[in-house]
Amino acid sequence: TTRSSADLIRAEEPVVAHNYHPLPVVVARAEGTWVEDVEGRRYLDMLAGYSALNFGHRHPALIEAAHRQLDRLTLTSRAFHNDRLAEFAERLAALTGLDMVLPMNTGAEAVESGIKVARKWAYEVKGVPADQATIVVAAENFHGRTTTIVSFSTDESARQGFGPFTPGFRIVPYNDLAALEAAVDETTAAVLLEPIQGEAGVVIPDEGYLTGVRELTRRKGCLFIADEIQSGLGRTGRTLAVEHEGVVPDVLLLGKALGGGIVPVSAVVARRDVLGVLRPGEHGSTFGGNPLSAAVGTAVVDLLETGEFQRRAAELGVVLRGGLSALLGKGVVGFRARGLWAGVDIDPAVGTGREISQRLLREGVLVKDTHGSTIRLAPPLTITSEELEGALEALQRVLT
Ligand code: PLP
Repeated sequence: TTRSSADLIRAEEPVVAHNYHPLPVVVARAEGTWVEDVEGRRYLDMLAGYSALNFGHRHPALIEAAHRQLDRLTLTSRAFHNDRLAEFAERLAALTGLDMVLPMNTGAEAVESGIKVARKWAYEVKGVPADQATIVVAAENFHGRTTTIVSFSTDESARQGFGPFTPGFRIVPYNDLAALEAAVDETTAAVLLEPIQGEAGVVIPDEGYLTGVRELTRRKGCLFIADEIQSGLGRTGRTLAVEHEGVVPDVLLLGKALGGGIVPVSAVVARRDVLGVLRPGEHGSTFGGNPLSAAVGTAVVDLLETGEFQRRAAELGVVLRGGLSALLGKGVVGFRARGLWAGVDIDPAVGTGREISQRLLREGVLVKDTHGSTIRLAPPLTITSEELEGALEALQRVLT
């Protein structure tokens, strides 16, 4: 097409639901850490599709895996077997140290599926009386946008107008083991947490919290479900964020980067005694486990097995923290960072998160604000230190 960015933004207005407020850039092409708009302007991607693009845009190995599969077989439905699913599940289970995989598509679907599995486990294995199961979650959580998931959100804009809500959830403050201890009882099927709260602004719990959650859930006989949809798959410098404390959850939720930025792929990964509660007809998805997704997901596991992306995130995370530390008091009032992931609190005197994002856009750097005054930095893990330093310099320029 020859339509300009401005024209395309105007054209969306009447025909695309207004459930997002995108920055005014229309991306037409991308490669690695760089995207290009309709007019050919180039931007450094410091958001990476909310961590769905951990390996960068169009990573050659992932594109090749997708092309190869497109030429053979794309969809069977689970009415039949396909020749790619077994390997994907074997490899993903091995990567995460768990036994079994329930393949789904989006993050919210993985969360929904994890909730269903935990409830079934509570009734069948733990012996919770019918319809009495509870799931304990953290305040300021973000697990997706379905009606059940927003039922336990503490963000009013996520809930307002969408009731009635699904019962069976208890909300406790994040990073508070005493509150968690008080909320878990004999009805508790699971504790569902983000090991680092992404949408909340990259909120990192105190050292020992995840270990404490693991110990508490084991002692009380309920499941620990770790939602690593945003924190997982290399972002924090390890394959999983829980690895920073050497913790293995009972149930792991993965999504975003699992599809390599090509196809939506998510998964519930768990021990066999947990996922084993599902029997034919009790859960499913037409696209879950399709051969194209499985081929791309397997190629993602291949990349993660090299350890290169985790290593880059850890090493470049030092550069990121250093650069942000230098901005403290100079437009940045605080930040939290792990690996190539940071929530940066902007001094309100300098501008809102949205304004800073818009100024960075004009500097050729893509970021997105969250919660008013915070911007999130989550570049592709393929970013070079020069590119990262360039982004930090641009941030410094727009803050002064
Ligand atoms: N869980 C976490 C921790 C997330 O960050 C997200 C998305 O941001 C989701 C779940 C939902 O994923 P999706 O948008 O693919 O439904």
